[in-house]
Amino acid sequence: MASEKPYRVLLYYKYVTIDDPEAFAKEHLAFCKGLGLKGRILVAEEGLNGTVSGTTEQTRIYMDMLHSDPRFRDMVFKIDEADGHAFKKMHVRPRKEIVALKLDKDIDPHRLTGKHLKPKEFYKAMQDEDTVVIDARNDYETQIGHFRNAILPDVKVFRDLPKWIEQNLSEYKDMKVLTYCTGGIRCEKFSGYLLKAGFKDVSQLEGGIVEYGKDPEVKGRLYDGKCYVFDQRISVPVNRTDEDVVIGHCHHCGKQTDRIVNCANPECNRQYICCEECEKKYHRSCSEACRRHPRNRYDLEMKQKKEQMVTGQA
Ligand SMILES: [Zn+2]
Ligand SMILES: [Zn+2]
Repeated sequence: MASEKPYRVLLYYKYVTIDDPEAFAKEHLAFCKGLGLKGRILVAEEGLNGTVSGTTEQTRIYMDMLHSDPRFRDMVFKIDEADGHAFKKMHVRPRKEIVALKLDKDIDPHRLTGKHLKPKEFYKAMQDEDTVVIDARNDYETQIGHFRNAILPDVKVFRDLPKWIEQNLSEYKDMKVLTYCTGGIRCEKFSGYLLKAGFKDVSQLEGGIVEYGKDPEVKGRLYDGKCYVFDQRISVPVNRTDEDVVIGHCHHCGKQTDRIVNCANPECNRQYICCEECEKKYHRSCSEACRRHPRNRYDLEMKQKKEQMVTGQA
């Protein structure tokens, strides 16, 4: 048996009516904090969307607790092993939507959504003729990995996706459309939107890229690069065959890499692709202005390191 890591990162969502999101969020936050979990959870009248980290025991108790609530009895958790926490704090926030598509008339995935395909079905469907694969994520996510030949919309936030589709993909309405995202939650709404917009045959990847990468038969085939995740890990591997490749280029020198860093300018904080050499050379900054920012975190870190060397604490 492979050695198990002591922590778990959970990713999960459920579209189900929650009557009082504010009250739910308060109570849920207290419970999570009491357990010692860290992460980010969104609560809305339409459901729950979360990602948390904790020890194996803490996350087990959490999953049991949610499963004991009739609303979440069939909640599916995507579970990753980890060496430690993947978040710094614990937040539970009430919101209008658990994923913000911000349509004039919101999509209820219980009424309108694309067909759900398991990883194996999705893998087969991708290779059919007259099929287009649309990535439902943002540009900073797709730049380090995506399904081969997928259409990668040029959007920064999910709510801009419908407009981009209207402007760029309306001629595909009679084709078979496959959509996918990180864990499946965005596609529940996005595929519903596509159907409403007149796309005739729409399917979505159940469990998203994260589950796709875990399927023992498919092994992440036809996914190139890594999967961007919204925690301190920044990305996770997907393709477990020898076809695994690196997608992405250093913002500064163009070298192939999938290394993502946060710009050291605390007021910018942009996540961008940067190789190790350029991190040193440009002080982990996405621009010259960011490099010269008086509170540049890279410069502060270097200063602290030097001081520790002098006082012998290193
Ligand atoms: Zn570089
Ligand atoms: Zn910057």
